[in-house]
Amino acid sequence: MKKKFSYQPQSAWKKLNTPALRKKAEALAERYIEFLSACKTERETVDYICRRLRQEKYDEKFSGERVFRNLRGKAVFAARRGSAPLHEGLALIAAHVDTPRLDFKQRPLVEQSDVVQAKTHYYGGIRKHQWLARHLALHGLVVRENGEKIPVSIGEKPDEPVFCIADLLPHLAQKQGNQKLNEAFEAEKLNVILAHSSSTGGGNEQQSEKNENSVKEHLLKLLHAKYGIYEEDMITAELQAVPAGPARFVGFDKALVGGYGQDDRICVFAALEALLRAKPGARNRAVIFWDKEEIGSEGATGASSRFFEYCVENLLPSVSPARRLAEVFLNSRALSADVQAALDPDFQDLHEKQNAARLGYGPCFSKFTGSRGKYGASEADAEYFAFLRGLLNAKDIPWQTAELGKVDQGGGGTVALFLAAYGMRVIDFGPPVLSMHSPCELASCADIWFAVEAYKAFFEA
Ligand code: MN
Ligand code: MN
Repeated sequence: MKKKFSYQPQSAWKKLNTPALRKKAEALAERYIEFLSACKTERETVDYICRRLRQEKYDEKFSGERVFRNLRGKAVFAARRGSAPLHEGLALIAAHVDTPRLDFKQRPLVEQSDVVQAKTHYYGGIRKHQWLARHLALHGLVVRENGEKIPVSIGEKPDEPVFCIADLLPHLAQKQGNQKLNEAFEAEKLNVILAHSSSTGGGNEQQSEKNENSVKEHLLKLLHAKYGIYEEDMITAELQAVPAGPARFVGFDKALVGGYGQDDRICVFAALEALLRAKPGARNRAVIFWDKEEIGSEGATGASSRFFEYCVENLLPSVSPARRLAEVFLNSRALSADVQAALDPDFQDLHEKQNAARLGYGPCFSKFTGSRGKYGASEADAEYFAFLRGLLNAKDIPWQTAELGKVDQGGGGTVALFLAAYGMRVIDFGPPVLSMHSPCELASCADIWFAVEAYKAFFEA
């Protein structure tokens, strides 16, 4: 392809230029929608990943050609051996499985003005008003003191009830309307309505205890009948309120996917597809899907833990005996696969448009993250970036570059710096998303398609 003197990013839609290719992209988006609709929590996502890996003959024993390890159902590592020795480095794609949501508190249940609500503590960066007056589903698990796990998923099937946080009616919102957004919506008011009726025992019930006939008591009886649990069991539960209902195509042309949790499940989906579909090659490949990115990557299942290192260490004896881990890391190339904020049609002034990501222009590189003078960033070197640019251009895969918002106004972090800590080459690279962190994030079907193609090309390089 002849180079032009000036540069403009290429439309991904223009590259989906045959009806057959469009059909394939739509079929991929349909599968992606199923995945998004089924995986609302980090545990559900890791379960899905492990199921797909097992189907493709990935084994938890670290001796074969395809291996994986699941850390407590919340993080997962998978690798496929290449013909080259491991000390020549991995091709690694990292993404995160956790998403912003409302976690139930340890003692969630409160009864006030004829309803029982669950008190919550939000997880990750949410805009609180987006969670009011909408259907919520409840996902997670309760663990009994004997270790028995009781999975919970309610509010997704049409015949199941959903849950809801009430919002103020406009008639009474006069004062709130004059408050600052951050003050108008309080975290302690993100209380999810779970029940409203008291027991219908027909008057024969003993009234010895004051709360015998309360809404809460009725709810606890229902919970015991359905799940066999007591209120104390909720203390050792992980219950998450998430937007209810499936992801959907958005627009007459079905060119966008709208749904919860696309940051970062779009990259999880694309990276997994790429790992499973890329042609076998020389370089050893791996994916790592971490938890806890949205709250700073701390914790055993987050990117700051040693889990990834332990997994690679376990690869060494079978693939490159007598070599040092440091060699593997220093020779590795990584993609920190995370979404970038797409240029918002209604808030264009918050972006610096020439360096903003656009929906439908392919996956997006962010050379650095951080904010205000690149503080807290990991920055990729120009040599590595140039190598990746050449790789995608050679395969005619559209790509773009961006930074998150205007200088001194935007910014953010990803898992890139945790990989950079090993001295490996790493750059952020993922599709743009509109309405990021909202209950209905939007992504372009063309970008989903080319994210998979780009990650495949990365593994095959
Ligand atoms: Mn993310
Ligand atoms: Mn995020």
